[in-house]
Amino acid sequence: MSNRAWVTLATNDSYGLGALVVAHSLRRSGSVYPAVVLITPSVTEAMRERLRAVFAEVVVVDVLDSKDAAHLALLQRPELGITFTKIHCWNLTQYEKCVFLDADTLIIQNCDELFEREELSAAPDVGWPDCFNSGVFVFSPSVDTFSNLITFASERGSFDGGDQGLLNSYFSDWARGDINKHLPFLYNVTSAAFYSYIPALKHYGQNLKIIHFIGAAKPWLQQFNWQSRSVDAPEHLRGFLQLWWDLFVGQVHSQLDTAMGDVAEE
Ligand code: UDP
Ligand code: MN
Repeated sequence: MSNRAWVTLATNDSYGLGALVVAHSLRRSGSVYPAVVLITPSVTEAMRERLRAVFAEVVVVDVLDSKDAAHLALLQRPELGITFTKIHCWNLTQYEKCVFLDADTLIIQNCDELFEREELSAAPDVGWPDCFNSGVFVFSPSVDTFSNLITFASERGSFDGGDQGLLNSYFSDWARGDINKHLPFLYNVTSAAFYSYIPALKHYGQNLKIIHFIGAAKPWLQQFNWQSRSVDAPEHLRGFLQLWWDLFVGQVHSQLDTAMGDVAEE
């Protein structure tokens, strides 16, 4: 068994669709490492079956099963619900090194070299580049780190109410510490960059490794024309969204049962 794995997260079936495309994009990139998905009980059995077909492991994380004081303290902060679920990735101690990928990311080129990096490696966030974006990060599973993160979160919360604020406060030496922990932006090109600095995108974009569809406009919510099989999107983003949809139509949708297919076609 590999001691390295990709990890993603889906707390519902919509993000489950994203996770399925993440897994297929990893396959397409020729990654030699397995992929694991963390899910919560709200993910339907039909979706779990699809996830089991492409992920090496589907790990159900049930926040309510947690009995110790730190967990209970954290449950007093309902706004951190999904954050709590994400940091469960540190409990995957069957692996030594992992790379977390949001379910709204897409691997464009093989990125297996990321596993040579140390915890916590991540790329800058375009909104505040002294913070890292928590959609793609390298970490080392550890139950100690998990429980320290829970304690930290229950005592201090998160400055942005989500996992990115929490992880940036906890791994606060990232901004000024070891530069090797700064991943090149190419490993987490957030869709905001497509509007803010087009010349750079044109100049560097052919080496893009991972695209991250941040914000409300998730790929699975875009207008897709089922006749022409093309997606309607702004020029610079269209190619990447089309790749997402090509993987979805070719690898995921064709495998879904009718009921779930209807959801995706709505
Ligand atoms: N997520 C989830 N269910 C939700 C919201 C988020 O499973 O209802 C997971 C999913 O893996 C997602 C990640 O948490 O990619 C971070 O959320 P999102 O990508 O929506 O945030 P953004 O990157 O847009 O800030
Ligand atoms: Mn995201």
